[in-house]
Amino acid sequence: MTTIPILKEREEQIYRKGSEPFNMQCEKHSLAGSVSQRACVFCGSRVVLYPVADALHLIHGPIGCAAYTWDIRGALSSGPELHRLSFSTDLQERDVIFGAEKKLYAALTELIEQYQPKAAFVYSTCIVGIIGDDVEAVCRKVGKEAGIPVLPVHSEGFKGTKKDGYKAACDALAQLIGTGETADISPISINIMGEFNIGGEAWMIKDYYRKIGVDVVSIMTGDGRVADIKRAHGAKLNVVQCSGSMTPLAEMMKEKYGIPFIRVSYFGIEDMAKALYDVAEHFPDQPEIMEKAQELVRSEVNRIYPELVKIREQVSGKRAAIYVGGAFKAFSLIKALRNLGMEVVLAGSQTGNEKDYEILRDMCNDGTVILDDANPLELSKYIIEKNADLFIGGVKERPIAYKMGIGFCDHNHERKTPLAGFEGMLNFAKEIFNTVTSPVWQFAPHRSGNEPEQLRNVVIQPSK
Ligand code: SF4
Repeated sequence: MTTIPILKEREEQIYRKGSEPFNMQCEKHSLAGSVSQRACVFCGSRVVLYPVADALHLIHGPIGCAAYTWDIRGALSSGPELHRLSFSTDLQERDVIFGAEKKLYAALTELIEQYQPKAAFVYSTCIVGIIGDDVEAVCRKVGKEAGIPVLPVHSEGFKGTKKDGYKAACDALAQLIGTGETADISPISINIMGEFNIGGEAWMIKDYYRKIGVDVVSIMTGDGRVADIKRAHGAKLNVVQCSGSMTPLAEMMKEKYGIPFIRVSYFGIEDMAKALYDVAEHFPDQPEIMEKAQELVRSEVNRIYPELVKIREQVSGKRAAIYVGGAFKAFSLIKALRNLGMEVVLAGSQTGNEKDYEILRDMCNDGTVILDDANPLELSKYIIEKNADLFIGGVKERPIAYKMGIGFCDHNHERKTPLAGFEGMLNFAKEIFNTVTSPVWQFAPHRSGNEPEQLRNVVIQPSK
């Protein structure tokens, strides 16, 4: 008989709504040996800065770190695509013993000469933190010689959680902001932060704002340009989507430049509409912005609603598991799935904080399992226990779903279809419909009655 146990030290990061007091432990280092789904600090900074398309991204470390994050997001660019090249100093044994500052200097100068980037980001990896290269000094020297910003990203993989990587990326962006000209920026303007343009969403969202009369100065992390980031301090409002990654930068800009920020989500009809209304409310002297926002929402919802209703009839009653990076996305997904008549039986995130998990607890139905920093075994265990039909996650969750023989929707780096905005909600619904109603699942062992003995005899232990 096979059992799927939970590691004792992980029990405080798993909560079953309704059956136990809420005491979620989160924002801590991943448990050694637990094989967390969460990425390292370096990867955290890489995913945030990656979409700055006209910058050079040089990874100071062994080639494995670069390979791990090579072309990590499908972040689309409307122009240059320098971000899609992953450069590495390819540190070897000799560099570890004698130091690699000279190698870094040589790589930086050669790459800048060859590719003429508008700025360069230099990522420190674990080994650089151990050998103690003075990356900052090399960046300063090269920046002076080349006449472009060369920014160290202090992202040594071991020094915290993925969230510390987000913070390191924000610190690097903060060095660019405030160095550009702002005189021609409209008084009705925003920056979009934490939208990564994976499937072209940033363009759709920018177009929505343009239609209601709001200018977008910079989408820092989606189709990003160094020149736009430099003048981002001229915008009147920061609109933060991926709050887990970009809140530190929004807070810094509030303190330094007096720019307020709001948290939004562009996923699902309700949250997309709210993201437009919240921005409109920020400019009360221009009531026409709110009127245009209401008109836009009305016409977009009318356009997609009939098809959504048809899909809802097909997927209503299906059970979904969600495991995403930031908890804010999980909130939107729960609402979007409810609009399709589906039930969320598992919800988890890599980087949620205590407040996020309280919101998640309040949103979820009794019996829903809520997880922080989960591993494949835990996710598999609860997918079986909750008899989920669908798993929504990223690249690392896809094989779990397929091994469990259930539908999967990529809501992270690798997809090519926009899932944000009104159009995105329809794409999302279509994808859910296609995957959960696929005839292939009838051949999955647990549905066909041909499950191998190990699976038939799996015992689900209670989580506490
Ligand atoms: S920075 Fe460290 S933890 Fe991250 S990929 Fe490189 S070696 Fe691995």
